[in-house]
Amino acid sequence: MAETGTQIVVLGAGTMGAGIAQCLADHGRDVILTDVDADALARARRRIATSRTTLEDAGLQTSEASAEGDRRLATSTDLGQSVADADLVIEAVPEDIDLKCRIFSELDRLAPPRTALVSNTSGLSITRLGQATGRPEQVAGFHWWNPAELVPLVEVTSGESTAPELIEQLIDLATQLGKQPIHVRRDVPGFVGNRLQFAVFREALHLVEQGVVSPEDLDRAMTGGPGFRWGFLGPLQAADFGGLDVFHSISSYLWQDLGDATVPPPALEDRVRENRLGTKTGGGFYEYSPESLADLTDRRDRFLLGLKQLVDATAVDEAASPDTDTRVHPAA
Ligand code: NAD
Repeated sequence: MAETGTQIVVLGAGTMGAGIAQCLADHGRDVILTDVDADALARARRRIATSRTTLEDAGLQTSEASAEGDRRLATSTDLGQSVADADLVIEAVPEDIDLKCRIFSELDRLAPPRTALVSNTSGLSITRLGQATGRPEQVAGFHWWNPAELVPLVEVTSGESTAPELIEQLIDLATQLGKQPIHVRRDVPGFVGNRLQFAVFREALHLVEQGVVSPEDLDRAMTGGPGFRWGFLGPLQAADFGGLDVFHSISSYLWQDLGDATVPPPALEDRVRENRLGTKTGGGFYEYSPESLADLTDRRDRFLLGLKQLVDATAVDEAASPDTDTRVHPAA
């Protein structure tokens, strides 16, 4: 499946499906992006074209790779026809367990026995999706991060019955796409990335709610502090650098004081009830006018592109000097 020449179907042409299909096609895979909604497919094509131009302008992709990717990317509203000769189906429909189970059962009926069926779910049970099919060993999680064509992490998750060979193949595929895959050995809710993200989010809400800090300063504390380092050193290796004795003594007095909410607290609940949903409704923790949002989005995108250039260059450096790569130390 990691080889070129394999046939891949991406099911669901929304935010994630479009980016995943683009990345696969632009790395030489034949892809059929499939959706029930023909308009969604047209929107995905427009989004992919814009994204390719942005990548080309940033020097991250050649126009030849974009043109070749365009040739390799087909679209369809006919699921049966799309999967008839598929080696791999990547499902990226909305996050609804009943819908996904229905789709996995349909895929099981329509796709040839050799086809692996994987889900981009953000954290629903891979085991349950596998049980909706007659081939649970060929079902796994394959969770990309938005924007899929830029963010390196892909979480490859085992359900209870997933074959180890499928995990290896998905990790190989993601690596060949220039991604940084990890293996999530058990399909715990939220996998790993979202558990980390939401642990930080819970503490951020706690601090703002207690009046310890303003939302603006809270965000600055992350982007200029831990977040600044975490792009290179994850939280465990950052602790190694800080000294585990130091992290031990801080943990001893600090953890008992951290937020431990088990349901969304008022700082979140109230905003949702008031339809302050963030950028999409013009306000959340901050206010957004159409102009300020366009400016912020543009600056964010340029920042992420610059970061991607840096991450790609770092990966090349590490590949060139594997003996000095002290970052790979599986302790358990
Ligand atoms: P989306 O709403 O943008 O797109 C979903 C697409 O699925 C739509 O185009 C819709 O027409 C299509 N669809 C719905 N039912 C379908 C069906 N029966 N057959 C074929 N297509 C169908 O959703 P999204 O944000 O791309 O999320 C997709 C999945 O990816 C979810 O599981 C989500 O949790 C996960 N995810 C989302 C993000 C994110 O930031 N948006 C990040 C990582 C993972």
